[in-house]
Amino acid sequence: MSTAATSLPDRNAAEAAELARAPDATAPEVRARRMRQRRQMYVGQVVSYSLGASVLLLYAHDGAISMAVPSLFWFGGLMIIGTFAVLSESGFGDQFEDHYLTVFQISAHMALQMIFLLAVPTVGVAFISVLFLIFAFGTLRMTSRQAMLTWSLATAGLAFVFLVSDLPIGLPVATRLERTASMLCFVLVIGQCAFLGLFGSTLRKILYRRSIELKAAYQRIEELAELDELTGSYNRRCIMRLLDAEIERSRETAKSFAIALIDLDWFKRINDAHGHPVGDEVLRTFAITIFANIGPEDRFGRYGGEEFLLLLPNTRADAAARMLERLRGIVADLDWNTFSSGMNVTISAGVASLRDNDTADSFLARADSALYSAKAQGRNRIATS
Ligand code: GH3
Ligand code: MG
Ligand code: MG
Repeated sequence: MSTAATSLPDRNAAEAAELARAPDATAPEVRARRMRQRRQMYVGQVVSYSLGASVLLLYAHDGAISMAVPSLFWFGGLMIIGTFAVLSESGFGDQFEDHYLTVFQISAHMALQMIFLLAVPTVGVAFISVLFLIFAFGTLRMTSRQAMLTWSLATAGLAFVFLVSDLPIGLPVATRLERTASMLCFVLVIGQCAFLGLFGSTLRKILYRRSIELKAAYQRIEELAELDELTGSYNRRCIMRLLDAEIERSRETAKSFAIALIDLDWFKRINDAHGHPVGDEVLRTFAITIFANIGPEDRFGRYGGEEFLLLLPNTRADAAARMLERLRGIVADLDWNTFSSGMNVTISAGVASLRDNDTADSFLARADSALYSAKAQGRNRIATS
């Protein structure tokens, strides 16, 4: 007996399984990759705070602010980064969909800027400019709701500083050094925002490429799926490919090759009378019956609906017709009453044998016209073209 299932190459099944495997957020390799990404981010944040503290150092050197401000700012930033780094390394963030804990990070960094804005309003614009940077970073990962929430927090903080207090928020520009520091403050923030923007667009490009790769992978899975789900016979795509291959092989070996299009008779009536699920069972039983009664080289596939294609390599037309006659008898003699009382199932088939000038289409067309004449002659019969 030749079943499609046994001849399905294992390699294809393994390849399909590999392609279908969805990334699991809890998988060790996924966790490790995420942790690497977070470490990169924390390093970036340390660099960013160091640049900010350096600018503050210039102001402090010029006497515009206390010497304690740059180091406090730097340590404050490092404290926040350190806290989130510890949470990250312990795997705490991995239990959340947003493993970066973006909203919490943003809120903490914003709070730090607000504290310094209140404490050192003379360089307040420098801290406000950092808010742009924080949002450029945050919007890479936030949902629109989270963005609205953090923006509202920022608005509340700024409203308090500007509207409730009367602090003289400014940016020192009295000396050359102060002007340089103020310029640097903007230049650095703009540079970092641009860097984050580029990073975001690179991420989008990667995602776009991945989605195209994914589409191709799914297409490949479909190609690898060779079997018809209901009957376990080859699906149409596969049986057509096998037909082409057998035509070629029979030409090369100069051996005869016959095909048969088999159609269940009055199948619509069977569905109507006994229900679609019973119809499905009939199709399955019919397929099993065929599998059990064909040779190891023969190939059997679902051509469409209740129509099937049987490939009979090394078989001449008369032998093919005899074989189909035998299959017809077996199907007709099955006790279909066990499915539903009073049920009868018969098949009709059109047999054709390969001719020299045949293409797959012309070969099939002759089998189809033979099937048509078998139906026209009253069904439950075999016709040869
Ligand atoms: P004929 O003898 O001329 O072939 O008549 P028929 O009723 O078999 O042919 P027709 O083409 O009118 O109807 C085919 C029916 O097969 C209609 C369709 O609902 C049914 N069918 C096709 N695929 C399936 C399936 O997967 N399951 C079930 N239960 N029915 C199917
Ligand atoms: Mg039919
Ligand atoms: Mg039909």
